[in-house]
Order: sequence, then C-alpha cells, then structure tokens
Amino acid sequence: MTESGKISRRQFVASAASLAAVSSLPLGAFAETQVSASAGERTTVQLTDSPGWKDQGIENLSKSPHAKLRDIPVRAVTITGGFWAPRREINVTRSIPTMHDLLEANGRMDNFRRLTGKSQAPQKGPVFSDSDVYKWTEAAGFVLQSGDRPELRAMAEKLIDEVVAVQEPSGYLNTYYQDDRKSLRMLPQTQSTGHELYNMGHMLQGAIAYYRATGDRKLLDTGIRFVDDFLIPNYGPAPKKPIVSGHPEIEMGLIELYRITGDKRQLELAGYILGGDSRIELPERRTIYMFSGTPFTARTKMQGHAVRAMYACCGATDYYLETGDARYWETLNTLWNDMTGTKMYVTGGVGSRADGEAFGDAYELPNFRAYGESCAAIGNMMWNWRMLAATGDAKFTDVMERALYNGINSGMSLDGTLYCYRNPLAFDPSTGDKIRNPWYDVTCCPPNLERTFGSLPGYFYSTSADGLYVHFYDDCELNWHLENGTGLKVVQKTNYPWDGNVDITVTPAEPSDFTLYMRIPGWADRAQVAVNGKAVSGASPGQYLPIRRRWQAGDVVQLKIDVVTQVVEANPRVADDTGRVAIQRGPLIYCLEEIDQPNGTVLSDVAVHPGPHPAEAFRTEFRRDLLGGMIVLHHEGALYEHETSEKLLYSRYRRDTKTKDVALTFIPYYAWANRQATFMQVWNLLLT
Ligand SMILES: [Zn+2]
Repeated sequence: MTESGKISRRQFVASAASLAAVSSLPLGAFAETQVSASAGERTTVQLTDSPGWKDQGIENLSKSPHAKLRDIPVRAVTITGGFWAPRREINVTRSIPTMHDLLEANGRMDNFRRLTGKSQAPQKGPVFSDSDVYKWTEAAGFVLQSGDRPELRAMAEKLIDEVVAVQEPSGYLNTYYQDDRKSLRMLPQTQSTGHELYNMGHMLQGAIAYYRATGDRKLLDTGIRFVDDFLIPNYGPAPKKPIVSGHPEIEMGLIELYRITGDKRQLELAGYILGGDSRIELPERRTIYMFSGTPFTARTKMQGHAVRAMYACCGATDYYLETGDARYWETLNTLWNDMTGTKMYVTGGVGSRADGEAFGDAYELPNFRAYGESCAAIGNMMWNWRMLAATGDAKFTDVMERALYNGINSGMSLDGTLYCYRNPLAFDPSTGDKIRNPWYDVTCCPPNLERTFGSLPGYFYSTSADGLYVHFYDDCELNWHLENGTGLKVVQKTNYPWDGNVDITVTPAEPSDFTLYMRIPGWADRAQVAVNGKAVSGASPGQYLPIRRRWQAGDVVQLKIDVVTQVVEANPRVADDTGRVAIQRGPLIYCLEEIDQPNGTVLSDVAVHPGPHPAEAFRTEFRRDLLGGMIVLHHEGALYEHETSEKLLYSRYRRDTKTKDVALTFIPYYAWANRQATFMQVWNLLLT
C-alpha cells in the first residue's frame, strides 16, 4: 500500500468515528465505506441483561441454568483491612497507574493513534499488544466497580475513546493487521498465530468490566459491533468462513457478552469455536499447543501452552454453565483430575516447561526450571471459580486459594511495580535471570495480575437458591442480598491467613431462614464452628459446612482453625522433589531465601528435620517490619558438611554424612525476591 493510500485510509477511519463525514468520502477503493455508513447508523442493541449493570458480578450467572452458585457484584464486598487491603491499595495507587504509563511509553497506545492519524509512530510490540491495553481497561473497570476514582476513570475514558475511534466500519478492530498486513486478516494461518480473536476476547472482558463499573456502553458497543457485524455474519460453520482459536480467550468473552445481550448466536459461536473446525487443518502438535482447533470434548489430558489450556477450560466451563452439555462436564473433570493430580505445583502454578510455556508430562514438575507463568496461575483460579459455580464443591475453592495466595500473589512485587513472568520454585541468581521486572515486551502478566487484584472482592462470596457461600476469609464487609431479595450484611473480622480465627457477624434485614455455607479449607487439620457461642458439628476440612437456621441481626459465627506449620511431601514420582519437603502454614507455602540465613549458609546443602512433631519443630514470629508484615518460621535445620571429594560431580556413597545445626528462617513464597534476589528454594532436603 502506498503512503498516500495509508493517509487516505487513516483519514477515513478517523472520520468513521464521526459518521457525518463518511458520506463525503470518495467511494470505490473503499468498498467497506458503504457498509460502514449503514453499519455505523445501526440501532443500538437492546441489552436484556438482568440484573442491571451495577449488580452483576465477575460473571453474570443470574440466568445460567447450570450454575449452582451465583456471583455477587465486586462492589458488594469491601475488603477493609487484613491481608488483601494493602495489596489492593498498592494495585490502585501504584500498579495500575505505572502500567498505564508503561503501555504509553512502549507505544501500545500509539498503535491506536497511528490509525487515526494522531501519531506517526510505527506499530510497536507483538501481535497481541492490543490485549494488554484491554486487560488494563479491565483492571480499571474492576477497581471502579469498588467505587469511583475520578482520576482513574478519566484515564480509562481517554483510552477507551482512542480504542473506539479505530474500529472499522465493518466492525473489525485490531491495530496490527493494518496497511500491508490487512490482506492477512483472519486467514487460517493468521488465526492460528495472530491473536486477532484473543485480543477481542480481552477487549470484550475489559468492556464488560468497565460497563459493570460505570454503565458506560461505549466500549461494550464497540465489542458488540465486532461480534455482531464482523464475526457472526462472516465466520462460523459452513458456508461461512472457518474459525480457529489460536489462543483461546474469545470463548469466555463471547459467553459473558451473551449473558448481557441474551443473543444466543454469541453463545453458539463460542460453542462452535470450542468444537474446532476441521476445515482448518493443523498439525497435531499445533492443536496440542493451542489447546484448540479440535473438539474440546475429545481432550483427555492437560497439555500444551498452559495459559491457552486454562482459558480454553474457562470458556468450556462457561459453555457448560449455559448449556449443561454433559460431554463438556465429563471432559472438564477429566482435565481437572489430570492437572491437580499430576501437573500442578504446590503453589497452584501450572505449566512446568519454558519450551512452549507448556504443561509437562505427568509429575514433570521441575523447581529451578519451573515456568509457572503468572497468567497460568490466574487462569487456574479463573477456571476453578467456574467449576465452583457449577457445583459448590470446595475442592475447587482449595485450588483457587492455593493459586491466589502463592503462585498468583508472588507475581507482583510488594511495592506493586515489578512483576514475575515466571514463578519458579527454586532460584539461583548466578544464572543471571532477572526475575522481577517492571515491563516485558510480552506484558501479558502485569495487567493480568492487576485485573485479578481489582476483582478480588467478587470472589469472596456466592449466593445459592438456599443461602450464602463464604469462600475466602479476610477483614471485609458484605452488603448484598439473598436470592429471595432479603437484604444481608456480613462482617468478617480475622487475621487470616496468619491465624485461623474468623468472627462473622450476620445481619439479615429481617429474621430469615437460610443456609450459610462456611468453607473449611482443605489444609486444615480440624476446625470448630460455633454460632452465638454454641458449637455446630460437622465441620470437615475441604468442604463447606452448611449452617441452616433462622438468622437474626447480630448473629455471630465463630470459625476456629488451628493454623500450624505443616511439612508437605510430593508424590514420589515427582523426581525433582525426591527426598525433599515443602513447608506450608495455612494456605501459604513457605520458602528459604539465602538473604535471611546465617552468613555462609549454602541453601542447596540445607536440610529440614521435622522430627516426630513437625508443627513444634518450627517457631513462628510475627515480623511487622519485614516485607509488609508477615509470620516468619524459624527452624533448627541442618547443614551438610561436605568433604572436598563431595564437590566432585560423582563420588562414592557414604552413609555417615556430617551435618551441623543451622538456624533457618522461612518466609512466605509470595514475598520472595522483594529484596535482592538471592538463592531461593521451596523444596528442601529432608533429614531423616
Ligand atoms: Zn502472562
């Protein structure tokens, strides 16, 4: 395309935003223009969403026929203090604004401006760069759902205006497949690698979160135009052109859009994409890697690119929640069992191979080389949230908690400005790897972490037909209602996860019969529950305890869980963890960082000896001054003393290895590498 052609098209796109100018443009070379004018004048799609935008949760499951639990809106829960409030505050005051500036500084917004003639800068970043802008918008949307922040809203509005302005009259929207790349749009090969629909999936999620915060439909309508004007008329089962989901994500976006518009074609399109289209022939290694392109229901194990697999499972679970298709449910459970039984790290991270950012074989869970991308741990939590909604089964919440407190929480530095892409379980700084960075050219993880912390209140509770589920514990206040409309306030007071005492005050608007489902974490040895001082029997770790009664204003539920230090071993088939143990306290996985140990301690030579009473072998100390305040664990460990010969790569085995005592200090894994990055390990040698 010639330079003049480019300018003309830019002028055209810019003017398409203000429709009045379109009719004065020359036609012919711009056949799309004619379509555009009428498309632009289309009447706005009537939304059939219920409840209204303000009352929708992370997902709107209010009408999903196969959801047992329903989301509450993010704004219904205020996290008032405790463990997560500082994290969420730093997310809003540091992470989201600095990421906005970095997206700007790295040309991600100029990619949009270039198309409206406002910037001469060349396209920057990989094919999926638009998605980073959309994920940032989603993070802003979730934050605004918790309350207005005029400065953030102004920032988001400006960004949205620049996105909306580049939508083509056909509905197409992508800053990469422009100019001479335009001819590549939506070709099967481009769909396989070009992330066009991945970008739009994130755009829909961002638009929906922003709509649920503000009621502003501008970005949402742009997403609807892409789906209704560009995608649905042209792509789908024959005789339309085929789709392959190169990086699953659009499936989730389409189904959440369906939950707002009620337009069944959007759900059906997601189902079609999940089914794969045999007209696009791909080598098997490609469909394994993409976790798409073949029928989802034909999959039998977790494999391929971990984030793709997680997002595909999220979309497939969403599809199940709407359709109840039993084949999907069977496949989802097969995959869940495979992942949690053989392929998930103790941190809730998934994807052990750097090569292809992929799942490994069963029990292939290396520590130093662990990939554990932040996005994959987030995808794991998102998927389990959907499985939980379908069942009310606490085994899914246990996985969410494991990922949230460990493999996700590690992904953002405590000051909110540095991010992990990989989340290894052992680290040797002599490799030169810089583990926390402010920016990655592939910057999928940072805004993903930001949207997750922004949406966190929405994960604390769900409603069911008969009551309320309590999933997570922290200082917080719920102001919402039961599904029968009875107003309900629930206040939690706790130091969770540092201790396991939670006081919950339940205040229904009027005395009401309903069931409060209290989650008893799977890691608990035992738990006691009392209502107004009277014990309630039946609390069982890894389950929800149903408390059915006539609740009155001021009723107090007390949960007491003994939080003790636990020594965890891996399945013997995990070769990397052979002869090793990890330390866990409550939901937190602990690690050793060299910086905390006595001078000269070589961590690879350190062993833990828990003795007959593991909990007593570790002393706890609350350190207010350390890394935002935390409980550290002290342990009299052993340091192997090596003979010179043992520094050889191989030497003769001797039974009488000498050790000497060494005072070890463990910190929670999420906080590692927040000072200088020193040697770190989660799995430590076991001294028997
Ligand atoms: Zn990522």
